[in-house]
This record gives sequence, structure tokens and C-alpha cells, in this order.
Amino acid sequence: MPVLVMKFGGTSVATLDRIKRAAKRVGLEVAKGYDVIVIVSAMSGKTNELVGWVNETSPLYDAREYDAVVSSGENVTAGLMALTLQEMGVPARSWQGWQVPVKTTAAHANARIEDIPPENISSKFAEGMKVAVVAGFQGISPEGRITTLGRGGSDTTAVAFAAAFDADRCDIYTDVDGVYTTDPRISQKARKLHKISFEEMLELASLGAKVLQTRSVELAMRYKVKLRVLSSFEEPSDEAGTLVCDEEDTMENRPVSGIAYSRDEAKMTLISVADRPGIAAAIFGPLSEAGVNVDMIIQNISEEGRTDMTFSCPIDQVLRAQKALNGAKEKGDINFHDLIADTDVCKVSAVGIGMRSQSGVAAKMFKTLSDEGINIKVIATSEIKISVLIDRKYLELAVQSLHDAFELEKTA
Ligand code: ADP
Ligand code: ASP
Ligand code: MG
Repeated sequence: MPVLVMKFGGTSVATLDRIKRAAKRVGLEVAKGYDVIVIVSAMSGKTNELVGWVNETSPLYDAREYDAVVSSGENVTAGLMALTLQEMGVPARSWQGWQVPVKTTAAHANARIEDIPPENISSKFAEGMKVAVVAGFQGISPEGRITTLGRGGSDTTAVAFAAAFDADRCDIYTDVDGVYTTDPRISQKARKLHKISFEEMLELASLGAKVLQTRSVELAMRYKVKLRVLSSFEEPSDEAGTLVCDEEDTMENRPVSGIAYSRDEAKMTLISVADRPGIAAAIFGPLSEAGVNVDMIIQNISEEGRTDMTFSCPIDQVLRAQKALNGAKEKGDINFHDLIADTDVCKVSAVGIGMRSQSGVAAKMFKTLSDEGINIKVIATSEIKISVLIDRKYLELAVQSLHDAFELEKTA
């Protein structure tokens, strides 16, 4: 039997009615002759609540226990989805990550899937089960402990299952009807893209467009998974949603095809560190060991052998970063006069494959922001993206004015 993977995000399973609605869609695919693997997220808001409880209990938590707590939301929806399907007369059962097993690395809270042996689920399909409902976001470490795949990780579970089972398609059902030129919740002028290349989707995702988790796009690209993003609230149709596909299959050739943002950034500055060989390693080594995901980095001009070093990281890692750097200072590995955390910043990025061949994109971006009176604090570029760190209060204004400047509302 051909296999289909259908993933339902938090809003699509937020109530019992919505679970029923999603289950009906699954029933339609079963009726077409598919064996279906359904990946579910926790009910919307649930994971945030669980993360909040962990933070309140233990701010610098043990990530193994964080995973034990935050993985639990998906257990509930997996069981409820299986029950709903059974009530409809569809042979279904639920699986938690460890039962499959979804084997991951031991990097708790941010684990990577290493292997999904298909035998357990395949043998149930062979016995006549039509739907395997799998709790997304979860796995099991080599030590046998529950892991999670990072926020938004159910997308990655879905794509990994599609690859492991050689599925015909991986459909990601969410609360918007596809991938847009920017977050439709920020700009009413956002346009839905019929298709988007893996590379552009990868950049958009890694720069904050949370419609797909970055690793899910990486996996889809590597294993050639046919990936579609669509709404669980619209009537089913073959044309629905956005197809994420190879570059040759996309028609667009604009310099910029999307604007992404990440709201929860922090800018950390080490004031007056000794400018000597090895200083970057002495700073960023301990940060990496503490699990801080450093993004942008700038080292200022050095005066009399001392310099300021600035970097950005997610806002919820500021405490860890401070602890790591102060620890390194106490050990005498680095010295600095002050460590300043600016937690009122966000990152806004323009993404487009067309940037490779068209110049002037950065200039236009900077001019647009300057016309709006927005000060740029840090800049980072790659072949197909330009990112800036700015004050968070300008996030919406920056996204909307860049969307206008690059004429994205004209996207067909
Ligand atoms: P789910 O719970 O279904 O996984 P998410 O909240 O993780 O849903 O992702 C969907 C959300 O992603 C949308 O509601 C939208 O606000 C946001 N988003 C950000 N950028 C984009 C974009 N370029 N296109 C579509 N949605 C986007
Ligand atoms: N429930 C998890 C989260 O909110 C995983 C997911 O929804 O993809 O991050
Ligand atoms: Mg998501």
C-alpha cells in the first residue's frame, strides 16, 4: 500500500471538534487506498504552558527533565486522535516516540533524529491497521531517555517518517493555507506562494518563519520528500497549499521572495575584552558548551589592545550565556569590564535566491529601514539572505515596509 504522512499542528488539534475534523481528512485519504501515518502536535498553547512550568520550577533546568515534561502534550493528542479514528471505524492506534522507536541523539531539548526503524509500524499495517498516529516532537536517546526535537519539532517528525516509509507525500496541516511572502499575521499584503524552493524555505525557516521547522526542510531536501503546507480548515483539493520543491521547479526570479522575522532575540555585548589570538575561542567555546545558540557576531575595532565583542542569541538563553561567560571570567579564561544584555531586539531578514545574481538588495533594505527611522544594530549576510537586528518595537513596521519595498504583494 502507498504510504501518506499527514501532520496536524497545534491549532488543528486544539479541541475535540478539531481533532474530529482532522480525523475526517485522514479518513478521506484512507478511502483512497493509503496507509496513513498521522503525526500530531500538542493542543495549541499546551507546550508553552509546559515550558512555563519547567522555567518556573527550575530556571536553569536539567534538559532531560524538561523533555520529560514538555513531550507530554503530544501523548494526549495522539491517543485522542487514535480514539477518534476508531470511533469512525478506521483501524488506528497511537505510538509515542519511544515505542516506534524514534531514535535520536542525546542532545536533550534539541535532539536530532538518527533512525526510525519502520518494522513495528509496517507489521501493524500488514495486519490491517490503516492509520498509525504518532506523537510528534518526541524521541528516545541512546541512554533510553525521552528527548524532544526543539520547538516546532513535529514538522521534523513528519518529514523523517515520510523519508523512513518512502511516503508518496508529506502534508503539513496548519492554521494558514500555505507559505506566504511573509507572516500573514504581520502583513495583510502577504501573498501565498504556490511553490517555494527548498533553499529559500530553509532560510526563511531558520530566520524565524515558524511555519516549518528548519530541520524538517533540511530533511525533505536531503531525502527528496514531496512536502506540502496546507490548511486544515479549508476544503480539501489537490491544488491547495504550497509545494516545497527543487529550485528548477520554481518559476520566480525576484531578488527577494520573502521576509522573515524572529521576535525573541537578545544582543549581548562584552565590554573591553583583551584583543588577543584565541579570544573568540575563549568566549564562544564556553557558550557552545552551555548550549547557547550564538547567531550573529561582531567584534569592534580594537583600541589599545582591548575591544568590544557583540553577539546575538535567543532571549531564553540569556541566563545561560551570562552564567557561562561569568564562569569563564572567574576561572581567568577571559576578562571583560562588563556584560550587557539588550533583550529588546528582534531580527528581520530578507531572503531570495535571486540575490545571487542581482545586486543592490542590501542597499535597498538599509535605505528602506533608514527612511522609517529604524536604527540597525547588527547586520549579517549570506548568499541568499540579509538579516538585521533592530529594536523590537519596530518589528511590524520593518516587515511591512520591506514587504512594500521589494514589491512582494505583486508575487503571483
Ligand atoms: P503549527 O502549530 O500548525 O505547527 P505554527 O504556529 O508552528 O503552526 O506555524 C504556523 C504559523 O507560522 C502561522 O500561523 C504564521 O503566523 C506563521 N508564519 C510565519 N511566517 C510565515 C510565512 N512566511 N508563511 C506562512 N506562515 C508563516
Ligand atoms: N508541540 C511542540 C511545540 O509547540 C512541537 C510542535 O508543535 O511542532 O513546539
Ligand atoms: Mg509548528
